[in-house]
Amino acid sequence: MSIAYRLSRVRASLPEEVTLVAVSKTHPAEAIREAYDAGQRIFGESRPQELKAKYEALPRDIAWHMIGHLQTNKIKYIAPFVALIHSVDSARLTEAIEREAARCDRTIDILLEIRVAAEETKTGWNLDELLRYVRTTPFAGMPHVRVRGVMGIATNTDDEAVVRRDFEELRRCFELLRPNFGARFDTLSMGMSGDYPIAVACGATMVRVGSSIFGERDYAHRA
Ligand SMILES: *Cc1c(COP(=O)(O)O)cnc(C)c1O
Repeated sequence: MSIAYRLSRVRASLPEEVTLVAVSKTHPAEAIREAYDAGQRIFGESRPQELKAKYEALPRDIAWHMIGHLQTNKIKYIAPFVALIHSVDSARLTEAIEREAARCDRTIDILLEIRVAAEETKTGWNLDELLRYVRTTPFAGMPHVRVRGVMGIATNTDDEAVVRRDFEELRRCFELLRPNFGARFDTLSMGMSGDYPIAVACGATMVRVGSSIFGERDYAHRA
């Protein structure tokens, strides 16, 4: 099955208003080019240097999303062009993005990543900690950061009830936080290849789908 065919199948399974981020991490530029030629314009990557290299190699009308854990010292690789950072999980990172965005004289859209999954290994804010931070109105002093919504990852399990519970919790966090932000707080990023239909049923406005489009990742031979 070609990338174009798999992409069209994923696209057809999504309501029109749900934004598809094609997660291309570890896949070479030629694979992204194939999806691009089939009409896809939003791609997600999880490593800043890899993201930058692909940005430089591919057409300029691609919107690049950073979806993986981001270290403050690596923001500089993506700050000049990144369209959306999904994985903002601390005050320190938020403030570092503000500084890099100011340096590039641009506003960077971000999502607040919230941890709902059972696994301790998963990243993201704890909701109470995030609410405490938001109540100090830190974003008033960060004109180069625009908070667009919430991102999260469900527990990695075959138990659909657990996955649904995680997505419902993310939806609740999104609704709870929304009054603190303006009309542009409109993005709920949740759902991957294995669980995006459940995420959509729970209110996702954006899904991040990799292997269902590009095939399995081969970390040993990464681009
Ligand atoms: C890799 C990744 C995805 C895509 O995963 P697939 O299972 O390949 O669809 C989505 N979100 C995040 C945060 C990822 O790291």
